[in-house]
Amino acid sequence: MIAMKGKRRWLSIQTIAYFVFTLFTVTLLSSLAFNAQADTPLSDNWSGRSSGWVSPDIWFYKAEQQPNIEFSEVQTLAAEQWQFLGQEPVAFGYDLTPYWLRFTIEPADFPRVLQIEYPLLDDLQFFFVSTAGDVAQAHMGDRLPFNKRPVAADGFVVDIPSVETHEVYLRVETTSSLRVPVRIWETAQFHEAQGPRYVAIGLYFGVLICMVIYNLFGYAVTREASFFTYSIYVVFTGLLMAALSGVGFRYLWPNSIWLQDIAIIFFGGLAFVFATIFISQLLNLREHSKRWHRGLVLLGILAAGISVCSLFLPYSITIYMLLPFAVVACAYVMVLGMAMWARGMQHAQIFTLAWFAFLASIMFNSLGYLGILDGQFIQRYAIMLGSGIEVLLLSWVVTLMYSAERTERLGAQELALQNALAAEEAQRVLNEELEQRVTQRTTELESVSVSLQKANAELERKSNEDGLTGLFNRRFFDVRLHEEFNRSIRNHSSVSLVMLDIDHFKQLNDQHGHQVGDDILRQFSTRLRSVATRVGDVVCRYGGEEFAVILPATNAQEAEKVALRLLSAVREQPFTCTVGELTVTVSAGVASIHSNMNDPADLIKAADKALYIAKNRGRNQLTSAAL
Ligand code: GH3
Ligand code: MG
Ligand code: MG
Repeated sequence: MIAMKGKRRWLSIQTIAYFVFTLFTVTLLSSLAFNAQADTPLSDNWSGRSSGWVSPDIWFYKAEQQPNIEFSEVQTLAAEQWQFLGQEPVAFGYDLTPYWLRFTIEPADFPRVLQIEYPLLDDLQFFFVSTAGDVAQAHMGDRLPFNKRPVAADGFVVDIPSVETHEVYLRVETTSSLRVPVRIWETAQFHEAQGPRYVAIGLYFGVLICMVIYNLFGYAVTREASFFTYSIYVVFTGLLMAALSGVGFRYLWPNSIWLQDIAIIFFGGLAFVFATIFISQLLNLREHSKRWHRGLVLLGILAAGISVCSLFLPYSITIYMLLPFAVVACAYVMVLGMAMWARGMQHAQIFTLAWFAFLASIMFNSLGYLGILDGQFIQRYAIMLGSGIEVLLLSWVVTLMYSAERTERLGAQELALQNALAAEEAQRVLNEELEQRVTQRTTELESVSVSLQKANAELERKSNEDGLTGLFNRRFFDVRLHEEFNRSIRNHSSVSLVMLDIDHFKQLNDQHGHQVGDDILRQFSTRLRSVATRVGDVVCRYGGEEFAVILPATNAQEAEKVALRLLSAVREQPFTCTVGELTVTVSAGVASIHSNMNDPADLIKAADKALYIAKNRGRNQLTSAAL
């Protein structure tokens, strides 16, 4: 449904586009065709002089056989060789043949000027012949520098030398369209009539110059290429209009006959070249439509070619290149604008409107030349007005487009900024979560580590402990004795060792069983510990029913005392167990470190030896190792 609707709308706009295209093509081509023949006088109100000027009845002679015929010979031409044109416009199209015009100027009691209001003629020779036969001459045309003109004007103006009746002969030769609108003005009125024209021209070129400067500033500030191409386009449009209106030759290149000769084609071609670049940039054609873009590029190349040709080929040939080209190219751009409009492209409507204003003005101008529309205003100002409106509208489009692009770009930047902020926020949240998790993990690890340390400590303790009695075991004893032995050597202090062996323990086991034996061992251990209480004292189970007590910083006498206390702690009180009370005795061997000893094993050996002696002496006693 939607597609159908779109298609129908496109079709209707396409139809309008074709209609406009046809209208322009027909109008412009016919204006070209009629260019030669038609030049309706703007007013033929001679008697009232309301328009300020009159045009005389004209005779002409086409100097086909004798292009270089002298004035004196022309004067003597037979009457039938002259053709009567009367008030018909003098417009012979593109004709390189010299023409002679002849007309009579009625007497008047005020000063007058003769004006040819068509600035593109190459060579004009005036011969004013008074009733007395005196001849006054004037020579003008684009082939002469501007300052050679008798009256400074955009067209060709010469003072009529006498107030009396006289004949005027005018020789015209030109490569431009041969159009000679002859007008006779009262001098004062002529100059007065130029006022509005100068204002209009001043306004028009003022607008153009402003647009160029404004858009060059735009380019300098934004670096947006379309501002620049648009400026150059306006420069060449202005130069073209200056050439067409005669303003260029008068003010810009008054001494360059060469430039005046090629100006229209050269500047016209370049204006179109920059128009194509600018249009392509403005409508972003390369992206939107390759086909339209290709057509535009082709036209641009052709325009450039015509510009180049104008440098080498005569105007009479190049004008025939430019005019048909301009018709096709302008129509193409118009339809292009409409097509882009139909596609809903932003600003295409203003662009189309701008181009339409320009083409409409050309159309009105052509209709003026064709005599279909009447009015000096249209002929004089239509193209300026149209091109002025076009230039202003296009400048508006360029600015609109730039502002739209800028808004888009700013929007994109804003979006990018928001995305970046969102990403940053997400990253922050993620980091926070990560940090939390790391902290949690660290706490967990720390607690694991603490329990591990505890477990390790426990393990360490267990590995040093005797399972049955809870005393230090043999492994710990070896390590500790080694340490204390070395320390006592280092510190020159003493260390003693008491080795203990329960008496007749085998019997006890045999009599009461191992359970009781174990019980006795446990209680026995407790008693040993309750005696050896000094810090540093180490009570160990050496193995079986043998025990060892390390006494650091303890000499032999002190060690003996401790051993005695150990012995009495065991024997003085019977052990209470499941089978009743049992009295147990123990034998002990005491040894202290001695200068002969080299390592802990010597100390153990000495204590063992003493114990052995104690056993042999009858048990339940202690023996000190002999020093
Ligand atoms: P002596 O007075 O010469 O030392 O005689 P004894 O019987 O104590 O000596 P012996 O070395 O012949 O016997 C030691 C006994 O100690 C042997 C074993 O039954 C007993 N025994 C060793 N370790 C343990 C133990 O852990 N538990 C129990 N219940 N008995 C043990
Ligand atoms: Mg034993
Ligand atoms: Mg024993």
